[in-house]
Amino acid sequence: MKLSLAILSMAATATAFAPSLTAPRTSALSMVNQLNIQTGKAQLDTAVIDRFNSLPYPADKVLAEYVWVDAAGNTRSKTRTLPVKRTTAVENLPRWNFDGSSTGQAPGDDSEVILRPCRIFKDPFRPRSDGVDNILVMCDTYTPSGEPLPTNTRAVAAKSFEGKEDEEIWFGLEQEFTLFNLDQRTPLGWPKGGVPARAQGPYYCSVGPENSFGRAITDAHYRACLYAGIEISGTNGEVMPGQQEYQVGPCVGIDAGDQLYMSRYILQRVCEEFQVYCTLHPKPIVEGDWNGAGMHTNVSTKSMREPGGLEIIKKAIYKLAAKHQEHIAVYGEGNELRLTGKHETASIDQFSFGVANRGASVRIGRDTEAEGMGYFEDRRPSSNADPYLVTGKIMATIMEDVEVPELKALDREVA
Ligand code: ADP
Ligand code: MN
Ligand code: MN
Ligand code: MN
Repeated sequence: MKLSLAILSMAATATAFAPSLTAPRTSALSMVNQLNIQTGKAQLDTAVIDRFNSLPYPADKVLAEYVWVDAAGNTRSKTRTLPVKRTTAVENLPRWNFDGSSTGQAPGDDSEVILRPCRIFKDPFRPRSDGVDNILVMCDTYTPSGEPLPTNTRAVAAKSFEGKEDEEIWFGLEQEFTLFNLDQRTPLGWPKGGVPARAQGPYYCSVGPENSFGRAITDAHYRACLYAGIEISGTNGEVMPGQQEYQVGPCVGIDAGDQLYMSRYILQRVCEEFQVYCTLHPKPIVEGDWNGAGMHTNVSTKSMREPGGLEIIKKAIYKLAAKHQEHIAVYGEGNELRLTGKHETASIDQFSFGVANRGASVRIGRDTEAEGMGYFEDRRPSSNADPYLVTGKIMATIMEDVEVPELKALDREVA
């Protein structure tokens, strides 16, 4: 014991300096080198991982990953073992807690935050073949006395939807995001310290090794979301190289926020596996001509989807116009860097809408105009926006019983 410790400390001294050709080649030294291997390079041996993954689960137990939103709007999670019978419905899942002083969500002297399960998904990261599912559990957060935390935006949004179930509001959320190398500075496909030789143009919905960066990740994420039970409806490469998009929906009411947050959680987990850094920042590259990232929010109520719906869509848009600044306030941090009026965005200061106009705040699709019913797209929310706040705010605004002035559509030619 003593001897090997001595060798270890010798070896540690040797490796503290420049690698020496004369350093003794002992097994202890190679152990130290092992420990010095940079993490983050996905060097783990898949055969080793598979060995553990192939261990069967006890038939009567389920691993439940409780997921919640922290003070910064990021997801966090931790695991517990539950008896199978408690995991069949969300009502049967026990509440749990975490140390809120470590997430900026509670003071140290009263640190317990209560997690209330809201929605169950299948866990794509812990599949099993015995007919039982391990689960991911979307939760929201409460004080021990039962008050929603100030950061519990789900509770705020839920109020907007409460009692309005007959409206059957649908949301389709387009989640854009940007993939970086682990240096967090170099987007995938970009040269280190530089910019791509070719300007934007060839990358959107692209194929080919010179255009498309990160497809393995978006495909893995797509499949993991489908497995989980998320209504992921598509994916495409984005305008800036290294930027990607997927869509979730249509989902009904508060479920859009639950599903989108869980899809973001899955995205982070997939990127962890690939050792690629993912950011939801709305303008990751400020210098130069590079698109930002958004969370376009497509909306329809039952009456908008029925004949005559276009008129109802327009009325909803006029209401959104009247509350433009209130919406911008909850549409994401750093959005002013993105909503410049360039790069397929409208100015942050002025509301506009138009048919097929990607330079407007709100767009009505050609099909919706042609059919006289359908949905509209609010293009203002940024990629890091809180989907509970965005969907809840839209619901509250368009349900208000107010008279607002009409607004002239901004057609593409005018934009
Ligand atoms: P874009 O043309 O803006 O890129 P996408 O195809 O990326 O549009 O996303 C459109 C989203 O809108 C999808 O998630 C889709 O499921 C959703 N959607 C389709 N119809 C409706 C509807 N009636 N109400 C709300 N969302 C809808
Ligand atoms: Mn899209
Ligand atoms: Mn897009
Ligand atoms: Mn869109």
